[in-house]
Amino acid sequence: MQFKQIVGQNAIKQRLITSVKENRVSHAQLFLGPGGSGSLPLAVAYAQYLSCEDKQPDDSCGECSSCRKYQKLMHPDLHFSYPFFAKHKDDTATTFIEQWREAFIANPYLSLDTWRGYLDAENKQANINIAECHQIIKKLSFKPFESAYKILILWLPEYLDKEGNALLKIIEEPQPNTLFLLVAQNQDQILNTILSRTQLIKIPALKYEDIKDHLVEKYNQTEEAAAEIAYLCNGDLAEALTMLQDETKSYHELFVPWLRLCFANKGIEVMGFVDQVSKMGRENQKNFLRYGISFLRECCLLLAGAGSLVHLPANELETAQKMTNVMSIPMAQAIITELEKAHYHIERNANPKILFLDVSLQIIKVLNLTIRQRADT
Ligand SMILES: [Zn+2]
Repeated sequence: MQFKQIVGQNAIKQRLITSVKENRVSHAQLFLGPGGSGSLPLAVAYAQYLSCEDKQPDDSCGECSSCRKYQKLMHPDLHFSYPFFAKHKDDTATTFIEQWREAFIANPYLSLDTWRGYLDAENKQANINIAECHQIIKKLSFKPFESAYKILILWLPEYLDKEGNALLKIIEEPQPNTLFLLVAQNQDQILNTILSRTQLIKIPALKYEDIKDHLVEKYNQTEEAAAEIAYLCNGDLAEALTMLQDETKSYHELFVPWLRLCFANKGIEVMGFVDQVSKMGRENQKNFLRYGISFLRECCLLLAGAGSLVHLPANELETAQKMTNVMSIPMAQAIITELEKAHYHIERNANPKILFLDVSLQIIKVLNLTIRQRADT
């Protein structure tokens, strides 16, 4: 993985490269960033850069023997640890290394859900077990074979449990030229004992423009389609790539007419909508609800006079502005609450037909109640 393959995050890339040039490489670092921000590919690119035999001013060379092995994740001094679903008590990350290489090379922005798909997870809890901690200690007790550094990338230390304390000594006093790169999403779920022993590198969510441009350039999306996904995914490229695979792209064209039907209290037509949505599949339904929630939040911003913060494509902005003529902030918030509830139930396998009918009725109730209240005053 080279830095140039990673979307955005230029400031972080520069900081990492400078730390190598100035010989300030800390032996235990925590890459902390939200899902889909690129913290895992950044850690891998950084490790590749450290090991590269022909470092360029702003990237690894991509051609030396070290880089070639790194690109396949098959360098003898590169190790990975990650949550997995143990079948036997002595399973370790190494048991699943083939799947790991395949998953990362297919999508360096993978989420735990995507990773789960590569494993026979059944209903097991992912974790990093004690056998794996012992394996890490063993792997890191040897000197590097080929490179200046032996590097362990530990993805999602949140899944270490208390057993992670077995690693403290090796994190604090590693062998010379041994590096620990931890890649995490939630600081408050990491053992404090580990947190206090690492240098923190905070990675921000990706910028709206970076995701949009990436989708246009690399995935041949139109400006409008890219804008809609970039806006929906909240800086999470993994999420954006999942949405690309969705069949139903324009949630806007489904959501706004639905609200209009509810406004007009048109029960029969609402049934048509319910039929259509219930055939969309669970992931699309969740995305659709998320779209609705984001759209109404933007309407609230408009209503609150904070239009400069609104990130909507032009045609959607126009609709949102029209909508603010008939909608108030409490109204929008009440609908948001209903959509959030529906999202919660969809995740828990509610029957979509019953659910979307119920949400529609709830929204009709919210709207009519508010209209009546207005008439009373
Ligand atoms: Zn190289």
